[in-house]
Amino acid sequence: MTTTIPAPTATGAPASPYQSYVYAYPHKTAYRPLPDRPRLSTLWAGEPKDALSLYLHIPFCEVRCGFCNLFTRIGAPDGLTGAYLDALDRQATAVRQALGDREPVRFATAAFGGGTPTFLTAAELERLCDIAEHRMGADLRAVPLSVEASPATATADRLEVLAARGATRLSLGVQSFDDAEARAAVRPQRRADVEAALGRVRDARIPVLNIDLIYGIDGQTEHTWLGSLDAALAWNPEELYLYPLYIRPLTGLGRRAGAADPAWDAQRLRLYRLGRDHLLAHGYEQRSMRMFRRADAPRQGADGYACQTDGMIGLGCGARSYTAGLHYSFDYAVGMHEIRGIVDDYVSRPAADFAHAEYGRRIDADEARRRHLLQSLLQAEGLDLADYRARFDGRTPGDDFAAELSRCAGRGWLEDGGPAAGVLRLTPEGLAHSDAIGPELFSPAVRAAMAGYERK
Ligand code: SF4
Repeated sequence: MTTTIPAPTATGAPASPYQSYVYAYPHKTAYRPLPDRPRLSTLWAGEPKDALSLYLHIPFCEVRCGFCNLFTRIGAPDGLTGAYLDALDRQATAVRQALGDREPVRFATAAFGGGTPTFLTAAELERLCDIAEHRMGADLRAVPLSVEASPATATADRLEVLAARGATRLSLGVQSFDDAEARAAVRPQRRADVEAALGRVRDARIPVLNIDLIYGIDGQTEHTWLGSLDAALAWNPEELYLYPLYIRPLTGLGRRAGAADPAWDAQRLRLYRLGRDHLLAHGYEQRSMRMFRRADAPRQGADGYACQTDGMIGLGCGARSYTAGLHYSFDYAVGMHEIRGIVDDYVSRPAADFAHAEYGRRIDADEARRRHLLQSLLQAEGLDLADYRARFDGRTPGDDFAAELSRCAGRGWLEDGGPAAGVLRLTPEGLAHSDAIGPELFSPAVRAAMAGYERK
């Protein structure tokens, strides 16, 4: 198959390879209040519902890591987690009702994220699973179920519940095995505690263990980075995520945020390449800039689910939901005070409130194609051109994104011959620059909305 990809144009590289991590498009900072508060039953009418993805968000952590800008609060005063689960139950009931029963509703994947879902007690985790199963109708033991945990909360009783209820993947946020680096990233923890937690995860026999590590921490060297990688490899994890450190406004480290720092960029790129090559040499396959998977790890994908297009139901006050035409969620914040206010508002809502979408962004045909391009191109396997044509009326990425692709090609970040092979794929250097490529693919409208977002 061939397609029209414009000729490369010579152009300078963006200021830094580390612009932002694009894990969902459009970003929540491009969402706005929806004045008509559309009913979920209307939004979901006519949407395919036989391979949905279910996400439950738990916005609590024991500490706030210095690099984290996720929607989460530190600790929970007495009774708040129970009240949160009550609200989640009310929301699940309202959402499931809105999905209706005219066509079959089936969840193909499920995930508990946060925050730290294992901030909940073992009994509360049972309740969380009950909400997913009994209220939403997800068959947790039959589909991939991924859960995020921190070392301190990955206790044997919680892991036992999760394994028994069908968790297939446990992702542990380690960040560094070096105690001084952990302190520098404002994630104080001792290596001995991390190792003990990893032992408990393996004892629980959840099929896939993922370990998150961070590079670019103050004081981190090639030697200490390799030390953390080897400490992780000693557990033979099925997956590893290597994250570049970001310093973002309103986070613990953000107070130190400064201007461009080419030396830090160079350090992060060096550590990235070192980490990538180390994992490739140890039998891992690179799936994206951040994700590495052991070649012989059990398959995790869900039959019939493709994240670029299909529906997602997010429950909880930080979760997003996606229909083909609208992405929506609740209000969003990073600052502690604002987050506490949004969580308190969520737990106080009556069931009727959950039948509407309140914040979001409409997705038109151009945005749908951008989203598909972004989420495919930033994967190591790239974008399947025949699939793109089939989804988008015979169009090609070259028809739709000539300038963007040409710039990418001009920097040597697009594989030559990719189109001829039926795939549009980044080169290894392109993958290394995913966090620069992603933001360049945002539409002008999304870019303007993000720029106009008032941080809180
Ligand atoms: S990185 Fe994870 S554990 Fe740390 S504050 Fe953010 S959500 Fe919580």
